[in-house]
Amino acid sequence: MKWQSLPARSGVFCCLLMLVAGFTSLYLRYLNFTTESFVFVSEAAVRQNVSLDETLNFGTRPAVRTRTSWNAPIIWEGMFDPILYDQKHTQAESTVALTVFAVGRYLDAYLNNFLVSAEAHFMLGLPVTYYVFTDVPEKVPNITLAPQRTMKVIQVEKHTRWQDISMMRMKTISEMIDKEISHSSKYIFCFDVDQVFMGRFGSEALGDSVALLHAHYYKLPKDRFTYDKNPKSKAFMETGDFYYHAAIFGGLCKNVKHLADVCYLSIMEDKINDVEALWHDESHLNKYFWVHKPSRLLSPEYCWDQSIGDKSDIMVMRLVWALKDYANLRTR
Ligand code: UDP
Ligand code: MN
Repeated sequence: MKWQSLPARSGVFCCLLMLVAGFTSLYLRYLNFTTESFVFVSEAAVRQNVSLDETLNFGTRPAVRTRTSWNAPIIWEGMFDPILYDQKHTQAESTVALTVFAVGRYLDAYLNNFLVSAEAHFMLGLPVTYYVFTDVPEKVPNITLAPQRTMKVIQVEKHTRWQDISMMRMKTISEMIDKEISHSSKYIFCFDVDQVFMGRFGSEALGDSVALLHAHYYKLPKDRFTYDKNPKSKAFMETGDFYYHAAIFGGLCKNVKHLADVCYLSIMEDKINDVEALWHDESHLNKYFWVHKPSRLLSPEYCWDQSIGDKSDIMVMRLVWALKDYANLRTR
């Protein structure tokens, strides 16, 4: 009996096995299908945002660092295809706001050259709105702007101390992002006025949160960075990643708004506590980018000081420091 029933039983077992295998294969095919369609959807979304940076050539500049420890690119000449970046940003209809302050004697000394050179080199091909903040709007030079480029002049108060003129930019920038910039521009870049564009400063510089490596410090060891070392200041930091230059920072409006708010609140807290950070807004900016890592770094090619002797890493000077004349230009 047992002997006879064995083939019958194994027949049933085989049928069951085939059924299970059949269902498993169908289920796997279903999984595969859904996985494939999932991959397809996310790839399309990703292509919109990051695939442009996947075209960056990180190995083309072996003498310099091209990536941070948290994998943010550091943009150097040769790493990117400018035509591709411009195409993608034009397709995405990226719009850019540039803020610049020219208060007191800084207006006559720098603003005209800054704006004229920006028209020749800054984000060509993309819609750009300049926001010029000054205490004397009628003195802002009348620059001829290319199509799709506009300028708004906004009057601001002239703080007595030059340190406050510099630091209080954070408050004005934050307010202006809320009031106007976030409604009309996707990206914002905030610039010092004492500099001149000399080469392409293009869409490769755009990113979620953008910081600039300071020309004087990018090669130095961390212990030489001039972070604020006073524990009483909100800008205090013992160590950091890089030394960033406050002459340029940028990103998506919401990120720059956050940066400006945090820096402004820290500056005001310092005032209440009767302390001032060593390098003013720059110290607070360095603290901010230590806590909130930037997603993109610009090499010193984007803001070079021509008085620096060793230019071996600088393949293009995109923007250079204008001559400083603190004795005559700064309010005392
Ligand atoms: N600024 C200004 N008027 C002043 C002082 C500063 O308009 O009297 C603005 C201007 O945009 C300037 C920026 O604040 O570029 C930062 O000041 P500065 O360039 O003197 O700082 P540094 O480059 O020496 O850090
Ligand atoms: Mn400056």
